[in-house]
Amino acid sequence: MIAEHLTQASYLAAAILFILSLRWLNHPSTARRGVAAGVAGMAAAIVGTLLHPGLGYTWIVAAMVVGTVIGVPLSRVPLTAVPQRTALSHAFGGLAAALVGTAEYFLGVSGNGHELTPFRTGALSAEVILGGLTFTGSLMAAGKLQEIIPTRPITYKGQNIINLGLLAIAVGSAIYLVAHPEQWFLFVIILVLSLVFGVLLIIPIGGADMPTVISLLNSYAGLSAVAMGFVLDNKVLIIAGALDGSSGLILSIIMCKAMNRSFTNVLFGAFGQVQAGSAAGEAKTAKSGTARDAADLLENAGSVVVVPGYGMAVAQAQHRVREIYDQLTKRGVDVKFAIHPVAGRMPGHMNVLLAEAELPYDALVEMDDINHDLPQTDVVLVVGANDVVNPAARHDKSSPIFGMPIIDADKAKACIAIKRSMNPGFAGIENELYYADNTLMVFGDAKGVLGDVVKELSGESGGIH
Ligand code: NAP
Repeated sequence: MIAEHLTQASYLAAAILFILSLRWLNHPSTARRGVAAGVAGMAAAIVGTLLHPGLGYTWIVAAMVVGTVIGVPLSRVPLTAVPQRTALSHAFGGLAAALVGTAEYFLGVSGNGHELTPFRTGALSAEVILGGLTFTGSLMAAGKLQEIIPTRPITYKGQNIINLGLLAIAVGSAIYLVAHPEQWFLFVIILVLSLVFGVLLIIPIGGADMPTVISLLNSYAGLSAVAMGFVLDNKVLIIAGALDGSSGLILSIIMCKAMNRSFTNVLFGAFGQVQAGSAAGEAKTAKSGTARDAADLLENAGSVVVVPGYGMAVAQAQHRVREIYDQLTKRGVDVKFAIHPVAGRMPGHMNVLLAEAELPYDALVEMDDINHDLPQTDVVLVVGANDVVNPAARHDKSSPIFGMPIIDADKAKACIAIKRSMNPGFAGIENELYYADNTLMVFGDAKGVLGDVVKELSGESGGIH
């Protein structure tokens, strides 16, 4: 009896900590506290479960050892690999839900477990469908992001109808199973179809859309945990699953909005296919310069806005960005960072990198807040960003990014853009900003170029200027 009360008290504490964790994760200044609360909540949930009377610990300890052996190396991946790491965690969550659901169903059908009431059978089916598709879908997403499998969308005629048809058969079988729970082969069909559906759902989606898809799969994993909570009559699973499901969905919606895309476009739009010969034959030239030219512009500016993008993450150039910030602020230049909500490849990508370089939070300004200042800004320094500063989003109705809110880098008095070539970014399109009269391209790896600019600014370059 006491153990049961302790378990319920731990679950209550875990639920409160999970909610606080999400609240605190909302702002960089409280994010660490948010992570600590999440970890404490999970610890409380695990301890509460272990206190459950009548548990055998052998299998639990064995599973914990296996989980630790897999989890510790996974926690050490570089920041650029976090999206695929997250996808793997969702895959494991989905697998756990599908396995628990399968075990519970077969225990029930063989008369050794709980009775398969219509509610229980319905919850089990939902758990297995969502868990199964999350498992294979997340593995596919991780594979695409890691480029183990082709990242381009693979499409064929009638694809959406086939996919939705398979899902409809799985759901139809589940409805029949609720009325006839002893028909175990239907359960097997549901399980197999959900695993196949997970693969087919992800195949037509381009690698670059994977972060949005991962956050959607996160939401499915959460919903499968809710169903599992009903099956196991476990309140903390229901609460944590609901939080996970809704936060994943909200995040996907935020990402879609920031890209001005709809859910259906992400899921069925096969975005990321090569664009047919845009602007072919137009002879435009971009003005290119050296690190010295960039340093000249920067040190003569009164205000500088840095726009970081995916290239800064690839080059791991955030510490060089910090050095530029130090050099310029030392000279009295006002330096701010313009943060686009989908710069990089995962939500908060730029915030995390800049926080790692210990840049002050108040220097980081959201896109909507910084855009009115840009016409008065002397220099915008674009570090490996492309789509998020592409003016075509404002005026070119034929552009795939038309309507996506952007950082108005082109409106500043001058712009310096650092990237390795004239190659496009995620959306696969040209950027007219690079050809503008007031833009200076400095070609090279962002870390190398910024390192050279820092040397120029600090007078260490030793060159003859
Ligand atoms: P982007 O449009 O993908 O452009 C990144 C640029 O970085 C490329 O043009 C590339 O040019 C340059 N680059 C790559 N490696 C570099 C290096 N080592 N040094 C210097 N430059 C380098 O990136 P973005 O402007 O950040 O925009 C993000 C895009 O991702 C948006 O279209 C957004 O919708 C999409 N997206 C974001 C999320 C998210 O959650 N953040 C999720 C899904 C999709 P070079 O090859 O010439 O160097």
